[in-house]
Amino acid sequence: MIFRTPISVPDRPQMEADVVIVGGGPAGMACALRLSQLIDEHNGRNPEIPLSKENIYVLEKAREVGQHCLSGALLDPRSMRELLPGFEKEAPIDAEVNKEAVYFLTAKSKFKFPITPPPMRDHGNYVISINKFVKWLGEKVEQAGITVFTGFAGSELLVENERVTGIRTDDKGLDKQNQPKSNFEPGYELKAKVTILAEGTRGSLTKQLIGRFQLDRDRNPQTYGVGVKELWELPAGRIAAGEVIYTMGWPLTNHEYGGAWIYGSKDNIVSLGFVTGLDYKDPRIDPHHVLQTFKTHPFVRDLLSGGKMIRYGAKSIPYGGWFSIPPLAGDGWMIVGDSAGFLNSQRLKGIHLAIKSGMLAAETAYEALVDGDFSVNQLSSFQNRVEKSWIREELWRVRNFHQGFENGLLEGMVHTALQQVTLGRGLHERYTSHAGHTRLEQIGNLPTGGYDREHILGPAKGDGQLTFDKLTDIYHSGTKHEEDQPIHLVIHDTDICNNRCTVEYGNPCQHFCPAKVYEMVEAADVANGKQIQVNFANCVHCKTCDIMDPYQIITWVPPEGGGGPNYDGM
Ligand code: SF4
Repeated sequence: MIFRTPISVPDRPQMEADVVIVGGGPAGMACALRLSQLIDEHNGRNPEIPLSKENIYVLEKAREVGQHCLSGALLDPRSMRELLPGFEKEAPIDAEVNKEAVYFLTAKSKFKFPITPPPMRDHGNYVISINKFVKWLGEKVEQAGITVFTGFAGSELLVENERVTGIRTDDKGLDKQNQPKSNFEPGYELKAKVTILAEGTRGSLTKQLIGRFQLDRDRNPQTYGVGVKELWELPAGRIAAGEVIYTMGWPLTNHEYGGAWIYGSKDNIVSLGFVTGLDYKDPRIDPHHVLQTFKTHPFVRDLLSGGKMIRYGAKSIPYGGWFSIPPLAGDGWMIVGDSAGFLNSQRLKGIHLAIKSGMLAAETAYEALVDGDFSVNQLSSFQNRVEKSWIREELWRVRNFHQGFENGLLEGMVHTALQQVTLGRGLHERYTSHAGHTRLEQIGNLPTGGYDREHILGPAKGDGQLTFDKLTDIYHSGTKHEEDQPIHLVIHDTDICNNRCTVEYGNPCQHFCPAKVYEMVEAADVANGKQIQVNFANCVHCKTCDIMDPYQIITWVPPEGGGGPNYDGM
């Protein structure tokens, strides 16, 4: 067993807070900024009973704001215009979208859709680097007088009498054996009146919260995709800034869900990536290999020839939609952004929803501060706010979208067409779904022949020019972790990995992890001759292993704060 348990510290330092926002991505920063605006307005109206911002904190696990933020990224500006009217004048925007195209790829050809389907029309949206954008938002938050603690991860939810009372931050300075080193600093008990979870997809505290209060009861299981991205520098004139291309089809087959994006940015930079739905059946599929193979298509090869790959990263995204979103608030807590599942998978966009959900949570927190009431009765008005907002309007129209693809691409297209004419309903009011890991087939049950997948199975070798192996790509993610610390990928039973999984699924962690964290290495004393090795320092925090492990025995917990990728410019 590879374990990580909190060590016992008799006198943990404590801090009191009014509001703690865990996660400094778009949702968390928008929440902090909106809360600050509301407090400023309140103090202008009520100078005799001012509210303080002193005890409002944003906690971010990265060394610097934005370093763990990864996305395509296209920004639908709707929520930003509500948060900061005229934001375009000062925000880091790379280009306005002025041209889109959607292609269906086969191995050697491409077919352009005669008209761009409405959900993929991006005129007026902005090509951005989410890293730079969030960094800028973080500066606004700090200028507004709210403290952002970087390099601090939320390790544990504090719960008293079924009420969330804050979080414990990560212990710093533990060695591999979970023992204090000379630089040991215990994590804080941050006692908060309201804890807002904005951790991104598959947040570790959100997972604790959902498990403890069974928040997934009566919901569709959340489903996910993993986006693997590279940033390229191209010869001038290859793609215009603001040009957007989506592809469907090859290298995936009819049995897998996913597609690619190519966004032209300024200075001849292109963002390209491939999202593979984490609900495929063949455990040998490797999403990093999918992207490498995609680049060998003549259309993409021509686009990239003479260019240079400069950055790499990966991130999971929630695909489940409206019916997978858990209750959004309870006693002392709210959930926002990707942690809650606010993503429109048909449009492949979630940043605008993350920002809007953060703003609505801020309005709820503000009212709670004024009323001095942090109970479920007060905070559940966040749920009402979301349901009355354009978030619900947008997500309700695509409520059955991803579920329609459970039986493959072709059937999915038919469902999509039906849903389009029935305002999102399709054949049933609520399409059900299955957690992605339950759809994996055991190796022995895979059909022999018939599925042409050789080109996306197992690790990509890479030619070092157009295609890369995982280690080369990881180098370009800037990932760093302190090596002498407990492993942050907790495997609850490694016997299952070494014996059962080897036989049943062929250790799919070796394939679905885009950072080569999991390896089966020679071991004489293990029945199958191999045992699992966890190269945790490579981890880019995408959470795919936590999601896709067939036995659900891997738990991603935050490493010592500050560790992880450095997505500068991504
Ligand atoms: Fe992603 Fe897990 Fe691999 Fe880390 S170990 S990069 S979270 S799949």
